[in-house]
This record gives sequence, C-alpha cells and structure tokens, in this order.
Amino acid sequence: MSAGIGKTRIVLLGPPGAGKGTQATAIVDAKGVPHISTGDMLRAAVKAGTPIGKKAKAVMDAGELVSDEIVIGIAEERLGQADAQKGFLLDGFPRTLAQAEALERLLEKLGTPLDCCLALTVDNEAVVQRLLKRAQIEGRADDNEATIRERMRVYDSQTAPLLGFYRERRKLIEVSGMGTIEAVGQRIREALG
Ligand code: ADP
Repeated sequence: MSAGIGKTRIVLLGPPGAGKGTQATAIVDAKGVPHISTGDMLRAAVKAGTPIGKKAKAVMDAGELVSDEIVIGIAEERLGQADAQKGFLLDGFPRTLAQAEALERLLEKLGTPLDCCLALTVDNEAVVQRLLKRAQIEGRADDNEATIRERMRVYDSQTAPLLGFYRERRKLIEVSGMGTIEAVGQRIREALG
C-alpha cells in the first residue's frame, strides 16, 4: 500500500507541450510526493557545468535524447533518496523502452512498484502552437520551431511506444490534455483518486 491517498507512484507521460509541467505541480501539491523531472535535473546540470551537463547540453539544444545510461543513472539516484519512498511523480522519465524497463527493474528492487502511467493525450499541431507561444515568453534554448518539431518526432518514435508498454501491464491511464488547465487538472484528480 502507498502511504498517501490514491495513486502515489506515478509516471506522467505526454508529448512536449502537453502541459506536463503545469499538471505535475498540481499533482505533487495534492499528493505530497516529490516531483522528479529529468528535464529539470539535466537543465540544472547544464547550468552548474557538471560533467553530465557538459555532455547533455548540445544534445538537449538539438531536441535529441540524452543517452539512456545518463538519465537512468540520474533517475536511479533520485528515486533511491528517502523522500521518494512515500511516492513520486516522474516527469520526462522514462522516455524510451530501455528506460521503462530499467525503471521496472529498479522499482522491483526497491519494493515500490509503479501505480500507474498517466498519459496526457493531445492534438499534435495544437501543442506545437502552445510551444511556440512558450518559446516567445520563456526563451528556452530548445524552444524554436525546428527543435520543437524534432522533439515531437523523437516523442512519436521513441516515447509513444511506452503507451503500449504500460497498457500491456494494465497500468496505463489516458487523460485528455486538451481544454483549460483546470479542466485537465480535474480529469487528472479523478483518474488518480
Ligand atoms: P519537454 O519540455 O519536451 O517536456 P523536458 O523538460 O522533459 O522536455 O526535457 C528537455 C530535454 O532534456 C529533452 O528534450 C531531452 O534532450 C532531455 N531529457 C529529459 N529527460 C530525458 C530522458 N528521460 N531521456 C533522454 N533525454 C531526456
């Protein structure tokens, strides 16, 4: 049993621009579990100029995926920390089948199997438009049209197969990510219990 209410060991999945970051914040506030974002951790490593950050920067700026080896290492270290024992929201990890398999093995070893994979479903063109808008506001280095389209392509080829992976394991919950932040948030609360 999880310590919190409803599902507390969660993978959040969705294409770039699906609103994962926004919804993740609301979920972790409600559940009291840590928000584990490999994107945030990698950006922090880039900013701090660590060896991992130096390796990851060019790859991230191009919209490609950082190596499985690096992100699995980061995620394992973070999930092994004490605060993740009560649950966690994984955001941006896993992103490949190899990462999903590594996560299954790790959680089995820790004795804390995943409760669910919550997948936000969106219209691809709508999210490209959302991201272009965010690019103007935030100026993230990987938010320009070519990179955004590349991140979409990478999502479709590398990450979308995880939907089948979690469906087979009866852990997939799909929620529409279209509509207002509040409407999506309400659907997620109902799905997570
Ligand atoms: P998005 O805004 O597309 O949701 P994130 O903030 O999660 O992206 O991640 C930004 C970038 O960091 C990705 O495009 C990728 O280069 C890298 N990254 C983050 N998580 C992973 C991962 N699990 N595997 C490989 N690369 C990752």
